[in-house]
Amino acid sequence: MNTSGDNEPVIDGEEIARGILEWVETESPSTDAAAVNRMADRVESQFNAIGLEVERTPGEDGWGDLIRARSAGPDGARQDGSRQDGETPGILVLSHIDTVHPIGTKEGDNRIRREDDRIYGPGTYDMKAGGYMAYYAYRHLLRLGGKTKLPVTFMYIPEEEVGSPYTRKFIEEEAAKAKYVLVGEPARDGGKVVVARKGSANFTVKAIGQPAHAGAMHQDGRSAIKEIARHILDIEAMTDYERGLTFNVGMIEGGTGINVVPRECRIEVDMRVTNLADGDALTARLLALRPYDPDVALEVSGGMNRPPYDLNPGGQALFDLAREASLEHGLDLQHTTMTGGGSDGNFTGAIGIPTLDGMGADGAGAHTLHEHILVSSLAPRVETWVKLFARLE
Ligand SMILES: [Zn+2]
Repeated sequence: MNTSGDNEPVIDGEEIARGILEWVETESPSTDAAAVNRMADRVESQFNAIGLEVERTPGEDGWGDLIRARSAGPDGARQDGSRQDGETPGILVLSHIDTVHPIGTKEGDNRIRREDDRIYGPGTYDMKAGGYMAYYAYRHLLRLGGKTKLPVTFMYIPEEEVGSPYTRKFIEEEAAKAKYVLVGEPARDGGKVVVARKGSANFTVKAIGQPAHAGAMHQDGRSAIKEIARHILDIEAMTDYERGLTFNVGMIEGGTGINVVPRECRIEVDMRVTNLADGDALTARLLALRPYDPDVALEVSGGMNRPPYDLNPGGQALFDLAREASLEHGLDLQHTTMTGGGSDGNFTGAIGIPTLDGMGADGAGAHTLHEHILVSSLAPRVETWVKLFARLE
């Protein structure tokens, strides 16, 4: 798509970088709906400006708004509920506009700055870059006078970083109507795309014992912390790297004072699995935990929040198309083995729709204060997006 004729638009890495920076400047932590909605405003107006039909669904439960922008297919087919018989399922493009970083990070702990090929800033890599690249690629195809063979629906998700509790139903609804799903989450391990992701579950385990004076009445107490301590070791021991199973007790809270036998203790557990059978079996095992001390009550809640998905023939074919298109402009696209990180691609991959994830920028430091993208990765990856938009049928 790189063209050298006069006035022919080219895919310009610096132009893409400037567009990404505008999005990064608009900070948007998941839990700040007003901030996320400022990003939604930006996305809405940019897609309006290139002639797409934008549907904005107000956030519920305190989340920001969901943006869906729909193109028409060549026959005017729209990928929405009003589709007529015989119209073609299209391309669903998933991006999220929220980040894990609080307002002020852009001037503080990860100041927006350019250092040679790197652009630092909160949400650069995960995933203001990928969200903007998808938009830029589609706009580029239009300005070349090209069009897609399939209708395209872009979704900009307001709360992916907390597991998409509000938008999951909309994602699955759109995915059920899609032939392909492209996800602009960050590339991995030096530019690899993602074709399989582990599933994840969260659990809360709470122990309720008997409080007592730690000096005068120690024998009457039943320590919730002591109870939970044994479960922490049990749960962590369920980790099995060979089977791709991990258990992380990531948070703990308990006790009221050093001289009180603690009545309550609570832990939060993150579990990752490679297949649904393991997910179901291990969920059942956690929910069935019993107290060591019969005088302590144990309450376990939680379950799977993102299902795992693995590479299937449809996903492989989609990857092969992307790789073939990329090789034409010198990008040797590779994919990772199953990754432990979740994304909205889990929802679409798990219901069997060919899903190509990790199509965003190369860089590093997702969820950290050294998060950055590599400017040199932008143009070649956008070129792959443009070719996929033009060729998928
Ligand atoms: Zn992300």
